[in-house]
Amino acid sequence: SVLVAGSANLDFVVRAAHVPEPGETVLGRDFDTFPGGKGANQAVACARAGGAATSMLVALGDDAFAAPLEASLRDAGVTLDIVRAGQPTGVAFVCLSDSAENAITVAPGANGALRPEHLPSLTGVTHLLLQLETPLPSVEAWARAARAADVAVVLNAAPAQTLPKSLLAHCDLLIVNEGELTALTGIEGDIAAALDALDVPRVVVTLGARGCCARMDGQQLLQPAFTIAALDTTGAGDTFCGTLVAALSRGLPFAAALRRASAASALACTQLGAQTGVPTYDEVERLLAE
Ligand code: ADP
Repeated sequence: SVLVAGSANLDFVVRAAHVPEPGETVLGRDFDTFPGGKGANQAVACARAGGAATSMLVALGDDAFAAPLEASLRDAGVTLDIVRAGQPTGVAFVCLSDSAENAITVAPGANGALRPEHLPSLTGVTHLLLQLETPLPSVEAWARAARAADVAVVLNAAPAQTLPKSLLAHCDLLIVNEGELTALTGIEGDIAAALDALDVPRVVVTLGARGCCARMDGQQLLQPAFTIAALDTTGAGDTFCGTLVAALSRGLPFAAALRRASAASALACTQLGAQTGVPTYDEVERLLAE
């Protein structure tokens, strides 16, 4: 099974003609709330990908924003281990422009309360999936505990930042986008060199509409993107991560898992909302069969 330890946020999304400049007020149009947070998005994607039992360690507040987050995870079939943090549920304020630019402010709230000792039992867990929206010392302690228990550690190193070697040393698979790869390595414009610079057995870099590129041991793999009409790319990376880990947990070869993750993340771009846009297993099968 897969255990995700990570963040959950309620996304407050307003669509507007453009993203406001500092000091500017923009009159937006429709407003909606969506369950989000990288950890929760990836848990939903992993569960919906089918085949892998998925559980999540998540911290929520005692407020009205917790309920929709909990419901979305449970509806997708994720088993929850909830820490009640005594802090507000995490929220994100998202302005989404007509040219698909966004500006996002996150108040992590309860997510900041996740501690090393909150990690549940790893019995039966094959893969631990982590991101960087929870405190770094906790992420590192969880990775260390998983490694010690022979659980594969997958880190989506997002949002972009530099990381201590001590954390990377416990990772079996790293998933990053181009900006995150540059932040981690300091190498810009040479993806192969940047992939080689990371001392992790397997690294995947996602390249948006250009697909993804991976290095496993000394070998490079390329997976082109599936062609779709993109409406909202929020959560594409999260769908990619959750789907990839679900496939690996089921025992799929790495190249086949990459292809499946690409198909699911392409479909996620055709729907609004990070979790609501995650396709089902059947939808992914249909695109893979085309
Ligand atoms: P992030 O959202 O983390 O920045 P990317 O933009 O690289 O991540 O997208 C992750 C994956 O989602 C890509 O590797 C690709 O498979 C898929 N994807 C993203 N944008 C598109 C697109 N416009 N068309 C098809 N697939 C896409």
